[in-house]
Amino acid sequence: MDIFDSLESEVRSYSRNWDAVFDSASGSTMHSEDGRTFLDFFAGAGALNYGHNNPVLLRPLLDHLQSGAVVHSLDMKTPAKRRFLETFEELILKPRDLDYKVMFPGPTGTNTVEAALKLARKVTGRTQILSFTNAFHGMTLGSLSVTGNSMKRHGAGVPLTNTTSMPYDGYLEGQVPDFLWLRQALEDSGSGLDRPAAVIVETVQGEGGLRAARASWLRGLADLCHQHGVLLIVDDVQAGCGRTGTFFSFEEAGITPDIVCLSKSISGYGLPMALTLFKPEHDLWSPGEHNGTFRGHNPAFITATAALEHYWRDGRFAADVAGLAAQLREGLSRIAAATEGSVVRGRGLLTGIYYADPEAARKIAAESFARGLLVETSGPRSEVVKTMPALTTTAGELQTGLDILADAAEYVTGEPVTLTSVA
Ligand code: PMP
Repeated sequence: MDIFDSLESEVRSYSRNWDAVFDSASGSTMHSEDGRTFLDFFAGAGALNYGHNNPVLLRPLLDHLQSGAVVHSLDMKTPAKRRFLETFEELILKPRDLDYKVMFPGPTGTNTVEAALKLARKVTGRTQILSFTNAFHGMTLGSLSVTGNSMKRHGAGVPLTNTTSMPYDGYLEGQVPDFLWLRQALEDSGSGLDRPAAVIVETVQGEGGLRAARASWLRGLADLCHQHGVLLIVDDVQAGCGRTGTFFSFEEAGITPDIVCLSKSISGYGLPMALTLFKPEHDLWSPGEHNGTFRGHNPAFITATAALEHYWRDGRFAADVAGLAAQLREGLSRIAAATEGSVVRGRGLLTGIYYADPEAARKIAAESFARGLLVETSGPRSEVVKTMPALTTTAGELQTGLDILADAAEYVTGEPVTLTSVA
């Protein structure tokens, strides 16, 4: 028994599946103390979209740390924050015609979700929030109240209230017209549904099984919200920052949410940082009404700015990601085709394979690890093998990962996979 097993709480999870002590990493590769090398298709659960220790971000980070510049500053003004705000406005908001105010909540995904829920209630004066089946929004009480997973909800230890869960796109397998119940319930004063403050949605359900909403479904949701004065919150904590191919995952649908949550890869380097974006008319906060000690982590502003400047100044990076996404989907489709009932789910570089037998998914992830590939599972029964490589992964690395996955799938299911190289 090592110190991790003897001293660290039973709550630990990744370290149970991946029995290695990871001591160094670069790009899409991780190394363990005992000399093993792993291809990383997990990318820090989406916090490492630009890979591990990306030199483009490391250089300015080291310069900042060595220069005597301020590291911690709550929400005081600093040059690092100024440059981040200027760059975010110039490279992300303006080109997309998005008029958002920027709020720095605490540095994690759940912090930005809590801020979004609180603001939506404050702006509308209503309490109810609508969320979706299999949604995941974080582990604090507000975020848990809009999260689907019953095990995680149970962990709250108190009733999770003032929320209602609705079927996500595909949940009812197309048997019911989109938003049949919601439209009716919002229009009918006898429906028993209190007019909600907001709807919170992920465009791809990162933790809940990789269902991806169709663009038309997202537009339908946005229209319905708009018609009824209900705010639309897009939780882009996992699907944002380029993961689906565009900076925001909702760009493809052409919608403009009222509130957007970002975290994970916004700092670029794996440093904690989060943003809550909202339309200026919703900026009804009083000074200090929502605060937190770690909202001004200047090293994260430095790496976030460097990432935006390097990768998002023009469309080249997004085009590269689209190419990788096509390659990934093609490879995963071939692996899925070998097993009856398996389908590819997800979008962009947030894509995986659903297995009717969750045990198959679990074993494929374990066999992938044994062969040097980090992939996790997703979904209420961990029934989806989830691949989430860094957006900076090369086509060659992607192919290597697909080969390993195909090998692991073949071993587990006994079904031969034909994976012609597309790299
Ligand atoms: N929202 C989404 C969509 C997420 O995927 C996650 C994390 N997996 C969170 C919120 C919570 O982020 P954090 O773990 O940083 O609190």
